[in-house]
Amino acid sequence: MPKKKLYIRTFGCQMNVADSEAIAQALAADYALTARAEEADLVLINTCAIRRKSEEKVRSLLGSLRVLKKRRPQLLIGVGGCVAQQEGERLLVAAPHLNLVFGTRGIWRLPDLVHRAAQGERPVAVELTPGVCALPHRLRPAGQVQALVTIMQGCNNFCSFCVVPYVRGREESREPGAIIAEIADFLAANGKEVTLLGQNVNSYGRGLPEPVTFPELLAKVAALPGLARLRFATSHPRDLSPELIAAFAELEPLCEHLHLPVQSGSDKILAAMNRGYTREEYLKKVAALRKAKPDIALTTDLIVGFPGETEADFQETLKLMREADFVQAFSFKYSPRPQTRAAGFPGQVPEAVKTARLARLQALQEELTLKANTRLIGRVAEVLVEGPSRRSPAELCGRLRTNQVVNFPGPPELVGRLLTVKLTEAHPHSLKGRWVAPSTPWPQVA
Ligand code: SAM
Ligand code: SF4
Repeated sequence: MPKKKLYIRTFGCQMNVADSEAIAQALAADYALTARAEEADLVLINTCAIRRKSEEKVRSLLGSLRVLKKRRPQLLIGVGGCVAQQEGERLLVAAPHLNLVFGTRGIWRLPDLVHRAAQGERPVAVELTPGVCALPHRLRPAGQVQALVTIMQGCNNFCSFCVVPYVRGREESREPGAIIAEIADFLAANGKEVTLLGQNVNSYGRGLPEPVTFPELLAKVAALPGLARLRFATSHPRDLSPELIAAFAELEPLCEHLHLPVQSGSDKILAAMNRGYTREEYLKKVAALRKAKPDIALTTDLIVGFPGETEADFQETLKLMREADFVQAFSFKYSPRPQTRAAGFPGQVPEAVKTARLARLQALQEELTLKANTRLIGRVAEVLVEGPSRRSPAELCGRLRTNQVVNFPGPPELVGRLLTVKLTEAHPHSLKGRWVAPSTPWPQVA
């Protein structure tokens, strides 16, 4: 019997992208993926609750699916991920056309949930059952060169603005043997780049029967034959250890890139956020990283308009951005989230002030990104080709080890390959280059 069709829409972070891949695998016996919701038998929305805007997008998509369901009443619709975890049963009440709800730890129960939904039940699975993080072995499709590998789930940090600990539960690490086996399979099928995922990878290994540190895990992964590039996200600045900093100098596959979310440059705001570090401590770690790996590219997350943030606090953030010299930043207006402490803090900042600060911050980041891209002009560097460029079908798009984006002319057969490219032009969001030869080590000045 031909397989039925599954359409998955993913919102949010890399963790959700990895979860959507797991959803496809969990249902692979009965469902093949389709890129068109109109022809699907099952539509699953993998949601993000980090800001209100992300939640609103889900509600609007759910609204538009009502029309599809009217046309094809046998269509099954499910909502999963962080909003599902937060709202549970309430989603079924708000959307009578919804068939099932599954939370952040309900993915591997999907075959049963979908079966029950097909029988007319409306199942809800949102238990945050604690225990060892026993995620099933993930298999990647042949030809895939980049893999997102979940090494832990949940978070114990309770930053005062963040909903993650409530929707993804307590922190749990996956057994190193399971992680290594999954990556070894991926590399045996010609995989090239691995990104290890967790909300705070620096606390990886706590609570395992035989505790392992994150730098120890990194060393084991880096030693696997065939691995060209190793990355990880996300690293909490408070727990960035000297051993992890040293790993950047020691492990060849570990890319010269670190995403180290600072959130704010003001000590007063960092304390109110419960981040556990000061601006000076953060900048000291930045200096240590640059000493270990002078070419390292640092990227970050920033929040503007956190409760109590004054113009002077915001200026501190702009100053820190210059001092840390970020190559890229994801920046957000503070969004009050249910259950979090900051939602009840006094001094909530007006929306117009948040909007104006975000624009100023993004203008500064654009300047810093362009400066970082310009520094690379004339270099010859390794690029992993990810696909066709968005601007022109005659061009390819890939990434440097620093994670900077490079577009260059080339045929589609080069997708998935590591190439050497001469960098010729800098733009605010990317670089332009010219393919010169198969791979050579990074960095090499022409
Ligand atoms: N675990 C990561 C860490 O601690 O850096 C962050 C994970 S979170 C999914 C990604 C980013 O979303 C955060 O770094 C923060 O900048 C942003 N974020 C989280 N909660 C937010 C909120 N309530 N309003 C605005 N941005 C928020
Ligand atoms: Fe949220 Fe903080 Fe945990 Fe990151 S470390 S997921 S920001 S609570």
